Amino acid sequence: MNKDLKNVMAFIVVLIAISIVIHIFVSEREDYTEELQTDFINKSDVYGDFSNNIEDEFSNINLPHWTHAPITYKIINEKECGTYESRMIQKAFNEIENSTKGIIKFEKIDYSPDIEIRCSFIEDCYEKKIDMGNVGSDSYTKEITEKICGYDAGYAQITEFQNNRILKAEIELIGLAGFAETHNIGPSGFSVGRCGYPDLEIHEILHVFGYEHTEENRSIMSPIVDNSSRIGLATYGAGDCKDAIISIDDWIIKDLIKTYSK
Ligand SMILES: [Zn+2]
Repeated sequence: MNKDLKNVMAFIVVLIAISIVIHIFVSEREDYTEELQTDFINKSDVYGDFSNNIEDEFSNINLPHWTHAPITYKIINEKECGTYESRMIQKAFNEIENSTKGIIKFEKIDYSPDIEIRCSFIEDCYEKKIDMGNVGSDSYTKEITEKICGYDAGYAQITEFQNNRILKAEIELIGLAGFAETHNIGPSGFSVGRCGYPDLEIHEILHVFGYEHTEENRSIMSPIVDNSSRIGLATYGAGDCKDAIISIDDWIIKDLIKTYSK
């Protein structure tokens, strides 16, 4: 009888010892899981959406958007672009910054920019003809005709994106060959046929924010803006440029402010 009792007691002691060991093991595992979870939360604070591993300061926005501010850019061949066009590009960025009250900011950098801008030149697009009439008589007339072919003055492309996040983009701006930048004569090949306002540059930059063409005539996103044949003359009569300036549409400004406000 005593011997049986001893055996039962021994069995109970062993059982208690086993359950203590199991308990320690399980609680350690719980601690470990908790650690993992905190680790995950910390990481997602730093990197935004942890599942995609891309930092997105505007992750609450569903529309296509850049993931951070300021948005960086580089003019890849600034020397070829020349001072006139480089200044126009700068003006376009300033215009977007100012009209969004500084909510959108750009920064010019040298290494790995968000937006790469290139300049190129179209050959044999400009033609100038001088007609001398009535030569030999007391008076004669001289008529100058200028022609610019219809050509696309700019291209823009979002080159890298993930879902609604815009990661990289490229812009190409096309000037006329045979002017200041290519032949060291005359005005800038980017100014000919245009009215001195960076509407083309703004238009291309807005393309890389995800804005598409609109049918509206007086919109900065009208397709005629990147087709420079809209005026097509190097020299203008008085008032030719009066109505040429198309500023950024109000709805686009409002949309940009809404998207990039924090
Ligand atoms: Zn366009």
